[in-house]
Amino acid sequence: MAKGLAVTMRHMLRKSETQQYPEVHPDLPARSRGVIALVEENCTVCMLCARECPDWCIYIDSHKETLPAPEGGRPRARNVLDRFAIDFSLCMYCGICIEVCPFDALFWSPEFEYAEYDIRDLLHEKDRLGEWAATVPPPPAHEVGAESPKELSAGSRPAPARRTAPPAPVKGPAEGASVAQEAAQEAAQETARDTAQETAREAARETAGEAARRPAAEPAKGPESRPRREPPRAMRDIRSIRPPGSLPRNAGSPPQKKDGPEGER
Ligand code: SF4
Ligand code: SF4
Repeated sequence: MAKGLAVTMRHMLRKSETQQYPEVHPDLPARSRGVIALVEENCTVCMLCARECPDWCIYIDSHKETLPAPEGGRPRARNVLDRFAIDFSLCMYCGICIEVCPFDALFWSPEFEYAEYDIRDLLHEKDRLGEWAATVPPPPAHEVGAESPKELSAGSRPAPARRTAPPAPVKGPAEGASVAQEAAQEAAQETARDTAQETAREAARETAGEAARRPAAEPAKGPESRPRREPPRAMRDIRSIRPPGSLPRNAGSPPQKKDGPEGER
């Protein structure tokens, strides 16, 4: 009890520190989850963030664009982002979209001054999300002794030295006889190796000739004999993802049959 009273007294006697917001902007920690910022140039419209969002509050529209390849190559298709919007009235700031983005297009910004009088105005489009990218703080410095990023360590690493043959030992006149013997042994080994290679080549040629004379009952198992793949289906030019509740109903589809004992009745 005395300990608790001591804590109370300490707080009573300490000078209060009131943050003078909005005159003085609070100095928030770098990891504050204020708002989600979008770097549009990094977004490849993979739709991962929208699929993983548990609240379905990310709206993405895109279309495909075909670019002529330089120097007569195959034309390339790429996704062009038309719309990227986040409904912050639904967002629960879990950060899953930022975690799953494989192209570093989404970031947390400590910016928090985007309150609105109408909840419908909390749906922010990519232009506004892009403006918040300027408020994203730089990543904090690594701890002392931490492993440096691979990008930095790869750039500063010296190029691997070329492997060179070890210098030949200098031999005196006394070793002349042994050198001549070694040379004779090497020549004999090379001759034997050449003979073995020639024999193997002849055997391979004979085998190939026999295979060619064989009747055509056995189909050759080459790449041509494999079943051909179906050509890919034509891709749709328009892609979009939005909450399931706002998807248009398929009026022509038959009513779904219920599973389980109730549906069988
Ligand atoms: S923070 Fe969570 S709820 Fe908000 S948009 Fe990202 S995934 Fe969805
Ligand atoms: S996960 Fe990243 S790259 Fe993919 S659509 Fe979302 S923001 Fe764009």
